[in-house]
Amino acid sequence: MDLELTEEQRIFKKAVRSFVEKEVAPLVEEAEEKETFPISLFRKMGELGYLCVRYPVEMGGAGADKVTECILVEELCRVCAGIAGGVLVQSGLATEPIYRFGSEELKERFLYPAIRGEKIGAFALTEPDVGSDAASIRTRAVREGQYYIINGSKMFITNGPICDFAVVAASVDPSRKAHGINLFVVEKGTPGFTVARKLRKVGNCSAETGELVFEDCKVPVSHRIGPREGGGFAQIRETLMSGRITYGARCTGVAQAAYEAAFQYAQQRVQFGKPIGKFQVNRFKLASMAMKIDIMRSYTYRVARLSDMGARVMKEASMVKLFCSETLQEVLSQAMQIHGGYGYMMEYPIQRFWRDGRLFTITEGTSEIHHMIIAQELGI
Ligand SMILES: Cc1cc2nc3c(=O)[nH]c(=O)nc-3n(C[C@H](O)[C@H](O)[C@H](O)COP(=O)(O)OP(=O)(O)OC[C@H]3O[C@@H](n4cnc5c(N)ncnc54)[C@H](O)[C@@H]3O)c2cc1C
Repeated sequence: MDLELTEEQRIFKKAVRSFVEKEVAPLVEEAEEKETFPISLFRKMGELGYLCVRYPVEMGGAGADKVTECILVEELCRVCAGIAGGVLVQSGLATEPIYRFGSEELKERFLYPAIRGEKIGAFALTEPDVGSDAASIRTRAVREGQYYIINGSKMFITNGPICDFAVVAASVDPSRKAHGINLFVVEKGTPGFTVARKLRKVGNCSAETGELVFEDCKVPVSHRIGPREGGGFAQIRETLMSGRITYGARCTGVAQAAYEAAFQYAQQRVQFGKPIGKFQVNRFKLASMAMKIDIMRSYTYRVARLSDMGARVMKEASMVKLFCSETLQEVLSQAMQIHGGYGYMMEYPIQRFWRDGRLFTITEGTSEIHHMIIAQELGI
């Protein structure tokens, strides 16, 4: 029995698992093979209020808390981390800055349709030459009357090739570094905004990733998120912090999938006259994996609950992201080892979990950057 969840959250978990197994699992093979996101899922999840669960019911969300969002994310990632990746950008990075800091006009035009799954969003911070050192972005937004002219390019953008709008970070004043950054909503079809290329990846293939280019792209001043120039970096930091908690659930979902695959394989594969799961070394591996997953899940819920209580969780959010993504690597390695040679073949699902999960120590802050944030928060 799961004492960490309320009755309502337990019912939600059951309903979501059933939805994901019925509506998402059948889409995975084709989406991964063709490296395309199954776009119809956005509307389907939007209609059920599953797409952006944390936003208020009156906006089309489910008015759910962070723990409930983590339940949804774990279930999605248990089935397909790639598809979950596209969904999570929609429910987090691409919409949260508009939800928290955007004008009513931006909400009407982009947020509400995104919650309903009618418009697809992307979040564009990273650039070809700027990743971890995000305050040094080179994309410029220069004001001309009632418009900003944006020039620059953005790399590794999830949902980039399929987005209807992108929330783009640009500097209005490079001399102010982080303090001179703003977020702008740039709509597909705006002259000067193009998807330069779709990128091929090692894993998470069903999430579409691309490079976006802005060449003299003219964006109305009303598409700047926030009432003044500057202040965008703080918005980015807040948005990323919330995503780091959810990241714990992403890692837990992939770890759970890998564990289940290894558990099943260990019962079926017979060597030396016995199922390999009977050998102590493999029993211990499975026991250790189950223990780690339990800790990942509990820790994620704990930090999510702290966040629901309104606590400042800058340090804890980094800790949960760092701990869960690094522990996931241990679980994936053990799950792969239990599969032996078959695990390395494309026909067994463990290879997908292994490829997908490898990304998780890299995006939304590398492990090294999270060590730095935690140390800074500790005053070291
Ligand atoms: C599949 C995928 C999807 C993505 N989706 C998006 C998206 O939707 N939107 C978006 O904006 N970005 C996205 N990203 C970008 C992602 O967030 C960056 O890759 C990440 O922030 C790291 O930046 P980088 O790749 O440029 O690595 P770099 O910053 O170049 O780092 C390279 C290595 O150096 C280390 N390093 C850097 N600085 C330090 C330091 N000070 N001390 C110690 N070590 C350091 C890093 O930890 C890393 O190991 C995505 C990336 C991928 C791969």
